Amino acid sequence: MLLLTCLSKTRVRTGVFPFVLVVSLARNQLMDIDRKLELLAEDARFEACDSFTPRKRKGKRRAPGIQQTQGPDGKPMALFRLLQSNSCEWDCPYCPLRRSNDVERATLTPEELATVFLQRHAAGEVQGLFLSSAVDGGVRPAMARMLDSVELLRVRFAYTGYVHLKLMPGARPDEVERAATLADRVSINLEAPNGERMKRISPERRWSSILEPMAYAREQQEAGNLPAGQATQLVVGASGETDREIFAATARMYREFRLRRVYFSAFRAQPNTPMAEHESTPFVRQQRLQEADWLLRHYGFNASELPFEVDNNLPLQIDPKFAWALQHPERFPVEIQTADREVLLRIPGIGPISLERILAIRGAVRIRELHHLRKLGVVVDKARHFITLDGRFFGGDVAQVVARLRARPVVEQLTLW
Ligand code: SF4
Repeated sequence: MLLLTCLSKTRVRTGVFPFVLVVSLARNQLMDIDRKLELLAEDARFEACDSFTPRKRKGKRRAPGIQQTQGPDGKPMALFRLLQSNSCEWDCPYCPLRRSNDVERATLTPEELATVFLQRHAAGEVQGLFLSSAVDGGVRPAMARMLDSVELLRVRFAYTGYVHLKLMPGARPDEVERAATLADRVSINLEAPNGERMKRISPERRWSSILEPMAYAREQQEAGNLPAGQATQLVVGASGETDREIFAATARMYREFRLRRVYFSAFRAQPNTPMAEHESTPFVRQQRLQEADWLLRHYGFNASELPFEVDNNLPLQIDPKFAWALQHPERFPVEIQTADREVLLRIPGIGPISLERILAIRGAVRIRELHHLRKLGVVVDKARHFITLDGRFFGGDVAQVVARLRARPVVEQLTLW
């Protein structure tokens, strides 16, 4: 506590941090915090409610908890991502932190958390905080511990940078309000697309205990708090859910709760859990869900338009926009020179940026050749099957293209961790 009283007089916002004070901590206490950090940063890897990338600095291993992500303004930023505690009272069968597992446990006090975060922030290693927690001591104490930590940063240390704070299931209106006044973004993990699926993988979590805090957070957003909005995360493939169920839930999240983003996290079977033998989800499924989510958020698609197959899942070998176009031959080919904005945006290979370039240029210049489109950023190998340029069609036999794509093995790609 003495340490923190001293630190409160330092200039956190200007990046000057009295390392000498940290060094003055008792050696064994420092060691203890280092070990806690290792555990709590490692266990936070399952949290995906921000666009974390596994990038490392060339030749350098990042310190525990430091993760590269995209800030609210879209620019890259390094976040300090960790759990406040990995001790859990709940027993989700897919989770290595479940109470029945014998794993090393750790909890940071608000003072410890503030100290280690400010140290990294002042050193320029991180620009923001992503704080989550297991259900340590129950929902109320776990939520209070995180809120106290962020309040300490904001009030005592006048920290004004980015904070993403996880809400616990069942968070009350007063807790959400406090979180919304302290954090830039909040999120609460949905984990499964409906109550039935949720029971299978998280028996202590109730569906309403997730939706109610989301509704409170939406009210906070409407009141002008939470400038970076709210988000959620689903574990994909753990509860036997289909992609159609996932998108029924995702569309509801955007429509009813005004979520800024839904994240998908491919289920990875964890040793020493009841689901250790459950098949892990191929990373490519997570990727297809993310692409389909982009279609909802940036391309004007409805969830009901997504190209689900007979098993109610998205195809794995073909990206969802390409698959949708194949299902709608009556809409193609489209003449690039004259088509409306909405029609152009539905063409595979054309994204929001290349669309704007096409619209900006086509009044002055006739786009006649594929290489003209390529220069505008269009993925020509996809687009050419669905367009005409000045009346000329450049596509091939789409049936053959599809057969080739479907014959490709579904390659398991690198996971984020
Ligand atoms: S609530 Fe469930 S998923 Fe979260 S840490 Fe506890 S056991 Fe793991």
